[in-house]
This record gives sequence, C-alpha cells and structure tokens, in this order.
Amino acid sequence: MDYFPLFARLTGAPCLVAGGGQVGLRKVRRLLSAGAAVEVVADEFIPDFEALATDPRLTLRRARFDASLIREHLLIFAATGDPAVNAEIAAAAAAANRFCNVVDDAELSSAIIPAVVDRTPLLVAVSTGGESPVMATRVRQQIESLLPHSTSRLARFAGEWRTAVKQTFADADKRRHFWQDMLTGPLAHKVLEGDMEGAREIMERGLAATPPARGVAWIVGAGPGDPELLTLKALRLLGAADVVLHDRLIAPEILAYARRDAEFIPVGKQAGRESIGQQEINDLLVRLVESGKRVCRLKGGDPFIFGRGGEEVAALRAAGLSWQIVPGITAASGCAAAAGVPLTHRELARSVVFATAYTSDDSEPQWETLGSDGQTVVFYMGLGRLDAICTKLLAAGRRSDLPALLIANGTTGQQRCIRGTLTTLAVRVNEAELSGPGLVIIGDVAGLAVDHLSGELANELAEDNWLPAAAGNNP
Ligand code: SAH
Repeated sequence: MDYFPLFARLTGAPCLVAGGGQVGLRKVRRLLSAGAAVEVVADEFIPDFEALATDPRLTLRRARFDASLIREHLLIFAATGDPAVNAEIAAAAAAANRFCNVVDDAELSSAIIPAVVDRTPLLVAVSTGGESPVMATRVRQQIESLLPHSTSRLARFAGEWRTAVKQTFADADKRRHFWQDMLTGPLAHKVLEGDMEGAREIMERGLAATPPARGVAWIVGAGPGDPELLTLKALRLLGAADVVLHDRLIAPEILAYARRDAEFIPVGKQAGRESIGQQEINDLLVRLVESGKRVCRLKGGDPFIFGRGGEEVAALRAAGLSWQIVPGITAASGCAAAAGVPLTHRELARSVVFATAYTSDDSEPQWETLGSDGQTVVFYMGLGRLDAICTKLLAAGRRSDLPALLIANGTTGQQRCIRGTLTTLAVRVNEAELSGPGLVIIGDVAGLAVDHLSGELANELAEDNWLPAAAGNNP
C-alpha cells in the first residue's frame, strides 16, 4: 500500500489553502463543507470568493505565500498554479511536519485527496495514488450507481440503533449476525423506501426475539480458479462468514472477498504434506456450527462434483444443523470454456461423462463404455494416472487418434493446455512437467481446443496435424 487511507475530522481545524483561482476555490469549498477553519492566501482572488467571504470560518489573506504563514495549520493545499511556488509550499509544509496536498502533483504531496462517494455517514473514498485520476473518477461513478442516495438514511438508522443492539447482544458474533440480517433484509428495504415506522417495528421485533444458538454452514463452490467465476451468492455468503473453512487450493484473490477479521482455516489436500482427513473436516464443521458460527465451507469447483460435499451435508444433517449448498462452476465447465472445447456438440458428442480414475475402493471405471459412441469423457484427478487412462481406453477399443486434452490450472493465469491423442498425450504431458491441478478431456470435441501455449511447445504442437484447431485460434 503506497498510502495510508484515513478519514480526518476537520471540524474547526485550521487549514491553509494557497491559491485564489478556481482550483483553490474548490478546495476551500470542500474544506468548509467538512467544517474546517480555512485561511486562503493569494495575490489575487477570483470574484467567486466574495460569495464565501461572509463565512466566519473563512479568512482571505492577500499576500504572496511565505513559510511564516504556516502556523497551526493541520492540512495545507498548494493550488497556486505556479509549480515553483507549489514546490516551495510543499517544502515549507514538510519542514513544519504538516500534511500537504499539491494539486496535480502526487510526488510533492504528502496527502492526496480521493474521489468521494458521499452518502454521509457512509463515505467511500477512491484513489489511484495520483496515477490515473480518470480511473479514480470512473470507479467512483461505478460505486455511485451501486449506492442509492437513501443509503445515507440506512447508515444513519443503523447509527441510531447501534447502542440498543449492543445492549441486547453482548456477543460480537451474534451482534454481527443481527446486523447482517437487518441490513440485507426487509428492514433495509423499508428504510430505503422511506418507511421509517415500518423499519422501527422490524427492528423492535428483531431485538425482542431470541437469536438462534446455532450457526449455519454454507457449502460454497468457489469455481475452478478465476475469481470472476464465483457466483453472486458465493460472494455474498463468503463476505458474511465468521469462519472460512477452505480448500488449500483456493486462490488468495477469492479469499480476499471474506471479512478481514474472519477466521480462515485451510483444510483438505495438499500435495506432499500431511493433510487433515475428511472425517476431521466434517467434525470441525459440525463443531463450529454448533457453537453458533456462520461457516463458509469454500470448496474448489462445485461442492457436489468430486467435492465430497455430500459427506459434509450428511454430517450436518446427522447433527441436526442448518446448511445450504451453493453450486460452483465445476472444473470441467471452467476448463472446457477456457480451452474453447464444447463438452457436447451436435455432430461430435451427444453425451458427456464426468469421471475419476480414483475410487475409494480401488474399483475400476467401466472402460468398455467410457468414450464410446461419441461420448466426451472428462477425467478429474487424472493427471497422475493419465498413462493408465489412455492405455485402458485403447484396450477397450477406442480409436488411437481419438483427441485428448490436458488442461492444467484451467481458467487461471497459469493455464496450460496440452493437446494430443490417446496415443500421444501421456508422453507430451510427461515432457511438459506440469504442476497444479489437471483435467483430462477425451473425445472428438477435444480436437476443437484453442492453443493457449506459447513458446517452444506451441511451435511444436502447431506442426501437429491430428485435427484442426478451431479456426483462428492459433496464436
Ligand atoms: N469439486 C471440484 C473437483 C475437485 S477434485 C470441481 O467441481 O471442479 C480436484 C480435481 O479437479 C483436480 O485433480 C483436477 O482434475 C480438477 N481441477 C480442479 N480445478 C482445476 C483447474 N483449475 N484446472 C484443471 N483441473 C482442475
């Protein structure tokens, strides 16, 4: 972080603005609206200053800037339009240890002024550290559109009830749950619509009711990797959780959507390290929910596709606890999309099977039927057994030139696609020395894959002509 974000209370605080033009005027207006006592120094003032001059908190001083003018001022604005004078002001402010904003010069500034969405008491400040004011404005506009003006009313309403809610719920978790429910539920609608009486009734009823002793488990699919592939519901529940019990592979960018002070517990598999078993995860989940926590159990892809979500639900049901499943984009959908492979196709594939080469009892998949009759087969957890998968399918009578594709780290910045056939893929993947999760897609549709490769491997594969890639897809 290049700057420390801070909201400063300037009520009655002495501030200095150097500059009597339009820019200076804007700064003065903003300082006065925050209640500051503003002294303006300039050789000349544009006429608009006269209208403000009656404000008792404003002093206009017709003079050239001089370091001795800095007295008790907390914050100083250099808005003279003369770079040399502005630099002189910045130096004087630095010498006096005061915050100084030099208009249009982030380098010289010790404080920068953000673009603001004002729904007082709710304030959103946006800054690009002076790198792109236009971008800051654009982001501010986007946020403006998300927050109706009546949000201001909702924030004030929450402020008015804060003490009462605090007195009712001594426990911080319970208090947060109450507010989460209130600020997203019917109460918020009432306030935003201006029905304050209705809102008050809901609030009073809520405070009189006994809050549930137990929490809830949200078993949430986090998608295959790209944070933008989260669902809106996943985003909302992740943001509301007290505890995030997450698979180790979940990207930090996704975890960043949770509350900063949520408890994060990484669980599940991690190659090469001892990892916590499914039974322990189930027990932990049950224990947390029983103790009243709202737990987001965040799993890669979809919780119900090779995700063992079913076992966690069974444990929660057995304990009589509340739970909810939020589906996610499974690796097959995410990776296929990222590689441009349609999993079904009117001519090439009328069905698709999600399979794994691993089972809990070491039984084998039905190799005779898999991939026959134009069926697409997607193998999860197949990277380590790729050779066996291809050999078994060939032995079961599948074509030796049947297209096969390996996608590693699909949908992420590290995505790699290796194309081949049942005969060639395993060797190629071996040579590529991939790391990270890998998904295998077998069937004629795999031949439509877009090459995301670069460098040597791409050139090598470009010479390969087993099936044309979709038109225009080669880099
Ligand atoms: N519930 C998950 C699957 C968990 S099993 C889902 O619905 O996607 C873990 C396997 O998923 C990995 O071995 C790999 O085969 C696949 N996988 C998950 N994310 C992947 C990714 N980003 N790229 C390629 N394969 C992935």
